[in-house]
Amino acid sequence: MLYGCRLNRITRVSASACNVKPLSNIVEATITRATGGSQRSKHVSNVFVVDTSKRPLDPVHPGKARLLLNQGKAAVLKRYPFTIILKVAIADPVVANLRIKIDPGSKTTGIALVNDQSGEVIFAAELNHRGQQIKADLDDRRGVRRGRRNRHTRYRAPRFANRRHKKKCWLPPSLQSRISNILTWVARFMRVCSITNISMELVKFDMQLMENAEISGVEYQQGTLAGYEVREYLLEKWGRKCTYCGKENTPLQIEHMVPRAKDGTNRISNLCLACEKCNIAKGTKDIKDFLVAKPDLLKKILAQAKAPLKDAAAVNSTRWELFHRLEVLELPIECGSGGLTKYNRTMQELPKTHWVDAVCVGKSTPEALQVTGVRPLTIRAYGHGCRQMCLMSRYGFPRTDPKAKHFKHGFKTGDIVKAIVPSQLKNAGTHVGRISARAGSFDIATKTGKVTQIGKKYCQKLQRADGYGYSQRSA
Ligand SMILES: [Zn+2]
Repeated sequence: MLYGCRLNRITRVSASACNVKPLSNIVEATITRATGGSQRSKHVSNVFVVDTSKRPLDPVHPGKARLLLNQGKAAVLKRYPFTIILKVAIADPVVANLRIKIDPGSKTTGIALVNDQSGEVIFAAELNHRGQQIKADLDDRRGVRRGRRNRHTRYRAPRFANRRHKKKCWLPPSLQSRISNILTWVARFMRVCSITNISMELVKFDMQLMENAEISGVEYQQGTLAGYEVREYLLEKWGRKCTYCGKENTPLQIEHMVPRAKDGTNRISNLCLACEKCNIAKGTKDIKDFLVAKPDLLKKILAQAKAPLKDAAAVNSTRWELFHRLEVLELPIECGSGGLTKYNRTMQELPKTHWVDAVCVGKSTPEALQVTGVRPLTIRAYGHGCRQMCLMSRYGFPRTDPKAKHFKHGFKTGDIVKAIVPSQLKNAGTHVGRISARAGSFDIATKTGKVTQIGKKYCQKLQRADGYGYSQRSA
C-alpha cells in the first residue's frame, strides 16, 4: 500500500525510471470489476506487484492494481498468478514478510500466503496434481512395449533382477510429479512476493505430543490441542466404532480400558472408544472383568491397543521428500500435524477445503485469521504434452499417423490467448482462455465453456504455456 502513495508523489514518469523492457505483448488488463455498485464486493484475490527490477513488493487489492494500470504506472507482467510490474522505480520499498503454507494432498494441494502479523490471507490456491494420469500413461506404455516385444522377438524368460539400484531419493513418477508441482509453485510465489517462512503439514498425528500429554477426562471432550489430537487418533485407530459392541455412527466417548479409578493411565495404549451404553455398563470395571464372558474379543482388543496405528504415524515418504527438498530453499520450515490443522480450522469455525487447511497448518497460525472473501486460484497440472510418436489402439497397435514435426503457427497447446473474432464469423466475440492448438484451428477453454474452431489470426498470446491450467473459483 505504501508505495501507492509514493507513486502519486512522482508526478512525471521519467524515461530513465522505466528500465523495464518494452512490454509489447501486453494488452489491457481485465481484472474482474467488483460488482454491486457502491457496495463493494468483498470477494477479491490480491494482485502481486514487482518493482522495475522484478523484485517483489507487497501484493495489492485488485482495485489498487487497476488504478495503477489505468494511470499507466504499471503493466501486466503475468496473468497467473496475476502480477503487475511497476514502471517507476521505488527507493527502499518496505515489504511485509509472508509465510507460505502448504497442505500436501494426493490429488490436491492447498497453498496459502499468510501475513502472520495481521492474520490476513493474501493469496490462496488449490493445486490439482496429475499423478493418476501419469500412472495410467506409464501403464499404457508398458503394455504396448510388452505387446510389441512379444510380437517381434522369440520367447525369452523375463529377467527381473537386472535393474540398477535405484537412488535413495527415487520416487515413482506419479509422486515425483506432485513434489515437483509444489516446488514449482513455491518458487513462482517466491518470485512475486516476499516469502520468508514456510509451513507444511508433515504428519497426520503428532505422536510425541500425545505421548507426553498430561490431560484429564474433561479435556478429551472439549478443547485443548492435545486432547483434540488424541481424539482424532483414537477415531482412526478404532475404526470410528465402539470398541466393545462395534456400533457405528453413534457418539463415542473416550474410554480408559484400565479405569482411572484403578490407576489406569492416560497413555494412548490405555484408551479406546465406547458408545454411551457400553461406557455406562463398564463403569469402573477393569476391561478384563468387563469382558470376562468374551475372551476372544478381549484378546483382540488388547492386541490392537498395543499396536501403534500403522499409517497414522504417517511416515509418508512423499511428504518427507517434499520437506527435504524445501529445506534447500534455506527458509525456516515449520511442520504441523494433521490433527493440529483440524484443530485450528475447527477453532476458527472455517469450512473444510484444501486452501483453508493450508491456511491452518502449523502452530504459527494467527488467532485472528482474515479469510472472508478470499477467492482461491485453482491450478491444474497438465504437463508439457507427450512425446509419444503415435497413438495406440487398445491392442497396442499404432492407430494414428506419426506425429507431425511442429505446427508452424507459433502457438502451443496450453497457451493462454485472447481471441477477437469478427462479428460476421461463426464464433464471433472475445474469448480468453487456454488453447488446444491444432494444425488448422484452435479450441479455447474459456470461463463459460469451450469455444471451438478459432482461427489463429484472431488470437493473441497472453501467457505462454507453462504446464498448468487456471480458473478462479468464487469463494
Ligand atoms: Zn458399545
